[in-house]
Amino acid sequence: MNKKGIIAIISGFSGVGKGTIVKELVNRYGYVVSISATTRKPREGEVDGKSYFFKTQEEFEQMIKKDELMEYAQYVDHYYGTPKKYVMEQLEQGNDVLLEIEMQGALKIKEKFPEVSLIFITPPSVEELKNRLINRGTETMEVIEKRVKRAAQECVYMQEYNYIVENDSLEVCIEQIHALLQSIHFENKNQ
Ligand code: 5GP
Repeated sequence: MNKKGIIAIISGFSGVGKGTIVKELVNRYGYVVSISATTRKPREGEVDGKSYFFKTQEEFEQMIKKDELMEYAQYVDHYYGTPKKYVMEQLEQGNDVLLEIEMQGALKIKEKFPEVSLIFITPPSVEELKNRLINRGTETMEVIEKRVKRAAQECVYMQEYNYIVENDSLEVCIEQIHALLQSIHFENKNQ
């Protein structure tokens, strides 16, 4: 019988490089990734239905009402949530699914699916994190300050994560996470 897939969650402070890491994991190794819904405005180059499903506040609240989200959270003035249908279909088909989400949502998923693997990506230092956010140039200084403040608040939840991986060298980090996901996959299939 085809065993169900598992969920692996990748979290990390804003600016740590999660987006790039997940994109590379998908491009290089064909991982299945969930596309979130958000009320945040698209950044330059972001495509609706690929980067996110961009929603108005009303549309997002409708999704909550209709129970279409596996989890959702508020993050620095905006809603973010994981549409349920796609993830459940993929799991049923035996595929593992990556979720790139923040910590509150991650912990909600863990309550529903205790077997979920939680991976947290850390920067080499707080200074480096701030530099990466500034160099990315996608947020105003005000939003960057809010995101760095949020990162400090999130530290307490790090202990809930199964694995902590440092993103000092992007290449090393991508390969470490791939190796980790492979071992989680085989452990699940062989249980
Ligand atoms: P960004 O605005 O930088 O794309 O994302 C902000 C934060 O929201 C990041 O920590 C990202 O992981 C998180 N995020 C993205 N999608 C979701 C989601 O569906 N649910 C939750 N809880 N967080 C999400």
